[in-house]
Amino acid sequence: MDAVLVPAPKLEALVRDIFIAAGGAPEEAAGIAQHLVGANLAGHDSHGVARVPRYVDWLKQGFVHFGRRPRIVMDGGAFALLDAEFGFGQNVAAEATRLGIERAQAHGAAVIALRHAGHVGRIGHYAEMALEAGLISLHIVNVAGSTLVAPFGGAERRFSTAPIAIGAPIEGRPLVLDFATSLVAEGKVLVASNGGKPLPPDALVGPDGALSGDPHMLYGDYPPVGLRNPGNGPGAIRAFGDHKGSGLALMCELLAGAFTGGGCAGPGGAGPGGERGRIANGMLSLYLSPAHFGTAEEFQRSAREYADWVASARPIDPARPVLLPGEPEARTRAERLAQGVPLQPDTWAGLLRTAQALGVMEEA
Ligand code: NAD
Repeated sequence: MDAVLVPAPKLEALVRDIFIAAGGAPEEAAGIAQHLVGANLAGHDSHGVARVPRYVDWLKQGFVHFGRRPRIVMDGGAFALLDAEFGFGQNVAAEATRLGIERAQAHGAAVIALRHAGHVGRIGHYAEMALEAGLISLHIVNVAGSTLVAPFGGAERRFSTAPIAIGAPIEGRPLVLDFATSLVAEGKVLVASNGGKPLPPDALVGPDGALSGDPHMLYGDYPPVGLRNPGNGPGAIRAFGDHKGSGLALMCELLAGAFTGGGCAGPGGAGPGGERGRIANGMLSLYLSPAHFGTAEEFQRSAREYADWVASARPIDPARPVLLPGEPEARTRAERLAQGVPLQPDTWAGLLRTAQALGVMEEA
């Protein structure tokens, strides 16, 4: 079936109204909606509005809460440890990022460790916030309570999809590298299970070690429209990049999970606080101000020259020039802002069903 094209402002208003109806304050609901639709606009449908039914379910189960602000556990000036106390991820992570930006603007560098955040969504969003303030940033993330990914050479789940993002504020060519350390993000399996873009045939691994691209390997049996539970399937997503990606995933778990105190992906199926089914993001972020280091001019000149040179490499396919990290997202954003956000019919149906269950009427 063809995708449903929804104009971004209409989609954002619908998602905002869903979260208001679910008990959120208008400002918080609007921030979450903006983040989710922003992920769709960037082309990361896995971290967009397809998540809404699951978020509403988590709210009902008390896994995540509106109206919580990160509590400062330890404040060292240029570094701080924050506990989000299971506040809505998009809200608490944005606040942690604002703090990191403020501290880096004061000290030249800042490290912010955030733990116990609800699902924070697309990590590149936080690197983009830092870019707007002229800062370089690095965000190392894990998902406590979510074991989905098999280590290199393994046929059993051990890691979360542990993403990482790095932003470089190059004037005229801002770059954001942002990816999961799994071969595909879990949301991409969700999108594939909703009839969207199929998975690569080697994205998943079964308990017998056989490679697969079938979402049932992660979710077990599921209805065409409705919640998917990654706890139900027999298989795992594979770590990207063989031993290197697998090692990077391990380090993300250690830095974002063990170091922040939010906990690693496992062992065991119980999430933070001992609750089965609850997941929480940990995020260790580093912010650097080239202006404070005295290298702002050199960084801009040298980084721009180098980035342009990298992008000028002769393409293998003349119709597909070399792109730099963040550029596919910028292109998709421009396209989707103009034409609307394409949603898989199952995703759109799930969203409308959630809206109707909460008494939100879709605007005609
Ligand atoms: P992906 O595999 O699509 O890779 C995206 C990165 O690769 C981007 O930096 C993009 O600019 C770059 N890229 C893509 N195509 C390119 C090309 N042709 N040339 C050059 N660069 C290119 O991303 P993913 O691993 O599927 O992750 C998707 C999203 O999921 C990310 O935004 C990530 O933050 C998010 N995520 C979040 C969590 C969480 O717990 N909150 C967990 C996992 C993933």
